[in-house]
Amino acid sequence: MAHFRCNCGELLGNSAVPNDVEICVFKNETWINAVKNHTEMIFLDEDYDIWNCPLCRRVYSFKTNKVDKMFSLAEARIDHFTSCLCGERTNFAHYVAYTDREMDQYTSDADTANGLPNAPRELWSCNICNRFFLKETQGTSIQVYHEIDFNQDYEAMMVDAGPQCIYLIPDGFAGPVEIIYGQESHQYIKMVDDQYVFEIPVTGVLKISNKEPDNGYVENEYYFIDCNGNRITRAEVSNHIIQEEGNGTIKEKFTVMS
Ligand SMILES: [Zn+2]
Ligand SMILES: [Zn+2]
Repeated sequence: MAHFRCNCGELLGNSAVPNDVEICVFKNETWINAVKNHTEMIFLDEDYDIWNCPLCRRVYSFKTNKVDKMFSLAEARIDHFTSCLCGERTNFAHYVAYTDREMDQYTSDADTANGLPNAPRELWSCNICNRFFLKETQGTSIQVYHEIDFNQDYEAMMVDAGPQCIYLIPDGFAGPVEIIYGQESHQYIKMVDDQYVFEIPVTGVLKISNKEPDNGYVENEYYFIDCNGNRITRAEVSNHIIQEEGNGTIKEKFTVMS
């Protein structure tokens, strides 16, 4: 689970399943091969993970969990893509892209790449100026994004990091954990020194009266604790997500690795 504050101030997160923020980008060759070889989607790694701010339409690409590039949407749209606005005509990389929501929807019906509908959008990236061009398969015009200097533009806008969540897990516990929000008559977890500390019981299910998660964009921390509450070692967890059930109950779930 990760969070990132967009330059416009909007807090972006990929913890909702599915979400409209994350976009999976595959190299065109990767995709064509996957379709030809009937590759199962779970074995197909995206080439890039980009995040799209729904508010200001800035786009971010990441490298090893850090922002690598920031792009903004130009007002100009073009009808046909023949050359880049910098003049380049041949040196492009070609991609297909699915939003996390589309991926979720499609992979519930099909589990191999050739069972998925044609990519809803294509993307060309100019290797000379880093502009990229995005064409929705349904759309008629092509959107142009240009790179903005992330280090220069972004630091001026830095905001405070917000609360951190710390999860304390009984030593020896392995398997699924659920934190169920909005449970009246159960304990309320207060923020202390910008931290929320969740102490997971041996059952793996923690009911709290807090209405909803309040994550900042500081990485979560997970620890195994002994019977006196001392933190022994860091715990490894996977699939940390926040889900709203059909009845509106919000659950935070993760799996503790043994
Ligand atoms: Zn934004
Ligand atoms: Zn260019």
